[in-house]
Parts: sequence; C-alpha cells; structure tokens
Amino acid sequence: MSDNAFLVDTSKCQGCRACQVACKQWNGLPGEKTEFFGGVEYTNPAELSAITWNHVKFFPIDRSNPERPIWTIMHKKCFHCHEANCERVCPEKAIFRLDGWAVIDQDRCIGCGACVNACVYNVPQVSGFDHVNDVGQKIVKKDRSHKCNACTLNEREVPACVNTCPSYALLYGNRQEMLKIAKKRVKELQKDFPHASVYGIDEFGGLGVITVLRDRPEKYGLPVNVQAIDMSRVEEIKNYYSFFSLFTFGFPSLKRTAYRMARSFSQTHSVNS
Ligand code: SF4
Ligand code: SF4
Ligand code: SF4
Repeated sequence: MSDNAFLVDTSKCQGCRACQVACKQWNGLPGEKTEFFGGVEYTNPAELSAITWNHVKFFPIDRSNPERPIWTIMHKKCFHCHEANCERVCPEKAIFRLDGWAVIDQDRCIGCGACVNACVYNVPQVSGFDHVNDVGQKIVKKDRSHKCNACTLNEREVPACVNTCPSYALLYGNRQEMLKIAKKRVKELQKDFPHASVYGIDEFGGLGVITVLRDRPEKYGLPVNVQAIDMSRVEEIKNYYSFFSLFTFGFPSLKRTAYRMARSFSQTHSVNS
C-alpha cells in the first residue's frame, strides 16, 4: 500500500466535474457518447467505463420530503484496495503495484474480465475499441482492461483530479494525515447529519481512497462488510488456466478462451463435488 492516500470529501464537492474532465485531459481519454436521460438523475455519463476513470454522480439521499429532497454527490474512481480482489484473480499478473497503487499493464492483460467480476466496486472495464491520443499513443486498447492508475504513469506529483478541484473536496497526501482530516470533518458534519461517516479505513485492508460521506455508505451505493475473494476457487481456475494456456501460443484471444474454459471447468467441478 502507498503511504499516501486520496481524500474525497463529498460534502465539499460542488459537482462541477472538473476532476472528471482533468482525468480525461491528462490521460488523453476520449469523450463518451451520452444521452440526456443516460444516467440516474441525469448524471452523464452514467458510470465509470474503460474511457472514464473518474466519475461524479448526483442523486438524492433523502426523499422523505418530496418537495425538498436532499441531494448529494458521489465520486468514484479505483479505490486502490490494499488487498485487491482484482489483483488476486488476474491470471496473467497484469495488475501490479506501482508506488503502492494498483495499476493494470495493458500489454500483459488478455481481457478475460476476471478483474471486472471480482471488483465489488465495478471499477475496471474492458474496452471494446482502441483510442489513439493526439500524439499518437494508443491510450485505450481493445480487449484490455482499464481504470485509474493514480496518475502514476504520467509522472505527476499530485494527481490531476486532485490538482484541479476548486473546492478542495479532493486532497492527496500521507494516509494517516488524510484519515485525521476525514475523522475531524465527520465529527463536524455529524452535528447536522448524524449518520455522516468515513469509508475506506479498513475495507480490503484499507483503501487508498478515503471518502467522507454525509450519510451511511449504503446510501451512496458503497458495499459494507466486504469480503476478500475465495482464493481456493481462484487458485483452481488458475490451475486449469495454466494447463489450457499451453495451447494458446501467446495469442490474447485464445488466452481469453482458455480462461473461459478454465472458469467453466472449475464451475462444473465444484457442482459435481
Ligand atoms: S477498487 Fe476494484 S479495481 Fe480498484 S484496486 Fe480495488 S478491486 Fe481493484
Ligand atoms: S482482464 Fe483479465 S488479464 Fe486483464 S487485468 Fe483483468 S483479470 Fe487481468
Ligand atoms: S488519479 Fe489520475 S488517473 Fe486516477 S482518477 Fe485522478 S486523474 Fe484520473
């Protein structure tokens, strides 16, 4: 785990989405094709994707007074779990740690989607197309998984999303310091919002993104009592995969098929045993 962490104070966010745009600009990611009614409560684009690594969502957390619902904002990017399910399931060791952050190596990735299924936050996504940026680099690769890399690949001291936030809702620094700030802020918020909470202290061994919320995590769609993935099943799939991949000659498309076969063999085996 990195000594540093992101602090996302959703109570300070004004919903300008400058962070979402900064992430796209700095990483050379293309825009999404959106529709007016595309996402929940007009949020656009609807969710994170292979080309949107930082997402701001608007929604009401309290509709008890239909005349005056209480609106809030949620930020999502990779939470950079210390004990990350995505990293554990990847059959190609394509997810590795760079300065403590979980990063996907697209040259190793075969697009099997194991990380997509294993992440309880629905963060990584496999792209259906290539995208080349203005200076000719292939930023998005077809049939490869993509997500936030904590700006480790673009040599920034302060991540682009944090650097651009005009209301200081996003901070970046020593994790212990970020936790101290988050806990202090929640105490202040609890005077008006008794269920205000901090998310990310212990989940998956501690997240690299600490989030301050005006209500309980469930209200923001965040899972509680999260569990590490069952490694006996993962190991079984990997064992079958090692065997099947002997016949793939290094072709990613054949490796994807080998992974699917390994998964279905493991399923059949667990049903029969
Ligand atoms: S949030 Fe998901 S993609 Fe990010 S490190 Fe955790 S498991 Fe992996
Ligand atoms: S899609 Fe498969 S190979 Fe690629 S990073 Fe995810 S688990 Fe690893
Ligand atoms: S840390 Fe960098 S890659 Fe991650 S969401 Fe922020 S700007 Fe995007």
